[in-house]
Amino acid sequence: MPAKIIDGKKMAQELREQLAEKIKKLDKKPHLAVILVGNNDASSIYVRNKQKAALEVGMDCNVYHLSEHTGQEDVLDLVNRLNVNADVDGILVQLPLPAHIDSEVIINAVDYKKDVDGFGPYNAGLLANNERAMVAATPKGVWYMLKKTVGDLTGKHAVIIGRSKIVGRPTASLLLNHDCTVTITHRQTRNLQDFCKQADILIAACGCPKLVKKDWVKDGAVVIDIGMNRLDGRLCGDVDFEEVKEVASYITPVPGGVGPMTIAMLLENVYDSCHSIRKIEK
Ligand code: NAD
Repeated sequence: MPAKIIDGKKMAQELREQLAEKIKKLDKKPHLAVILVGNNDASSIYVRNKQKAALEVGMDCNVYHLSEHTGQEDVLDLVNRLNVNADVDGILVQLPLPAHIDSEVIINAVDYKKDVDGFGPYNAGLLANNERAMVAATPKGVWYMLKKTVGDLTGKHAVIIGRSKIVGRPTASLLLNHDCTVTITHRQTRNLQDFCKQADILIAACGCPKLVKKDWVKDGAVVIDIGMNRLDGRLCGDVDFEEVKEVASYITPVPGGVGPMTIAMLLENVYDSCHSIRKIEK
């Protein structure tokens, strides 16, 4: 029987509606500040989508669009001003930054309480230690989808393709913290297919169009496709959806799977940071 589709668009819409209701009850709107440097087309689209989503749920969202030639010190200066601005609850630095700017320096400068992307070392460390952290939006969205579809994750074997700081690693930490047995694979992994075949939950986050084939997937596995690639002008994931849906029990489509959940979880992080900064009870 073909896999059931995990509808990220619908789940995200529900979460955003619930968030909008909660925001209505606040005295003051949560405020997200977004820093965009340069004119990368994809980044501009991502920022526009995030701003639109934030405004739709009733948040304030200011985009600080700096020119391509802005120096690192000026970007740092802006981050520091936003860090101490009591009106700002969350700061997001859209990546990638232009090559002359050290992204690590900028990301590490964001106050951990306002680090709504969860990319800074303090939040990454808390997550790795299984302590309360601001969790990066994509892994958090993946976890939410899994909880909704699989339910109890205890003892499930999750295999993750990809070990990046912003996707693969935090996803692994999050699932480990929820009692999965986790295998992280990457570009240097030998016999990748053999690892994938052992997965109860297979998560692809490698940026390789349609890498995961039907014979890489165990019958009945849950397959989460984080990849967002262009192939022949069309958006596709890291999983060969048409093939793999024949063997998986659940599968996320691309588009309409993890992507919308990422934005919904970012908004949740802004809401959460607003509560912890303003010390409001939820
Ligand atoms: P990245 O390039 O930083 O990391 C890719 C990882 O995959 C690396 O750890 C690398 O070792 C591994 N890898 C690459 N090729 C491999 C191969 N052939 N076999 C095994 N491992 C391999 O990328 P990223 O930022 O982690 O993003 C991964 C994918 O997820 C991209 O397609 C990106 O566009 C997508 N993404 C989607 C969302 C979303 O909201 N849906 C968010 C972030 C990233």
